[in-house]
Amino acid sequence: MTLKNNIRNIAIIAHVDHGKTTLVDGLLRTSGIFRENQEVEDRVMDSNDIEKERGITILSKNTAIEYKDYKINIIDTPGHADFGGEVERVLMMANGVVLVVDAFEGPMPQTKFVLKKAFELNLPTIVCINKIDREEARPDEVVDEILDLFIQLNAGEEYLDSPFIYASAREGYATKDPNEKYTDMTPLLDTIIDYIPAPEGDINEPFKLLISTTDYSEYVGRIGIGKLESGSIKVNDTAHIVNYNDKSVDKKINITKIYEFQGLNRVEVSESSVGNIIAVTGVEGINIGDTICSEEDVRPLPFVKISEPTLSMNF
Ligand code: GDP
Repeated sequence: MTLKNNIRNIAIIAHVDHGKTTLVDGLLRTSGIFRENQEVEDRVMDSNDIEKERGITILSKNTAIEYKDYKINIIDTPGHADFGGEVERVLMMANGVVLVVDAFEGPMPQTKFVLKKAFELNLPTIVCINKIDREEARPDEVVDEILDLFIQLNAGEEYLDSPFIYASAREGYATKDPNEKYTDMTPLLDTIIDYIPAPEGDINEPFKLLISTTDYSEYVGRIGIGKLESGSIKVNDTAHIVNYNDKSVDKKINITKIYEFQGLNRVEVSESSVGNIIAVTGVEGINIGDTICSEEDVRPLPFVKISEPTLSMNF
């Protein structure tokens, strides 16, 4: 089982089109996973066991990378205008963020919006100036603009050391020095491992899973996705759903399936432990913000209040 100090949970945040998807592809490639191959594999799996696999393929686009001895869970965040706190909710699974900014465009409204959310949650931030291959790229000015944004958003002193990485996600490299090309994304992966803290939590405590996203599939029913904040959870464990709104404790449920993220896949596991981002089934009636608790301790975890709909373009 993966030790929690070998886990990194990061969210990639960016203004739309600044290269989030391409960057995740680059990270996957550097760790030896190719989306093209993946599609072939998916098709193979579909024909073999459609029902079992389809049950979970519609899940959120989270991915995970094995790099050195670490598992890096990459949390997908919405790149569009945020209605109703979606960004906060998924950021709660992260222990740090990679802020992607186009080296020509510089920070844009959604950059400011998502960065503000990351600061509110005190998430350590790695800045990735992307598209440095663009002829019009102006990385030095963009760094200054981002630092101005940090000041404008009242970033705490701890953010003064935020690492800056320069990348061309499209060409598949990242570097700490804009004048120095690198052959792959390892400088960004190494920075993630060094700078983003491991998730905290006690493996010996009763398990608690904070639900940040939900999904549904006709094959496996309701799916709850979130980070295990303590303990370890096994298939067939009994649990209670503690309602976020009124803190009421729901009837006893049975965890029927547990999935971890691996590359572009969701893999079924029999057990998972603190720090991991997982998906579980057997959780009919679960809602975002609820906590799935072991019977031994049904006190819910705190969850950020889901804000009124915010139009991110409006500031
Ligand atoms: P997202 O909306 O943030 O997920 O952005 P995408 O990853 O879809 O990228 C948006 C566009 O920018 C696409 O046309 C990409 O090919 C392009 N793009 C992404 N990364 C780079 C890069 O490093 N250099 C250049 N020149 N283009 C890039």
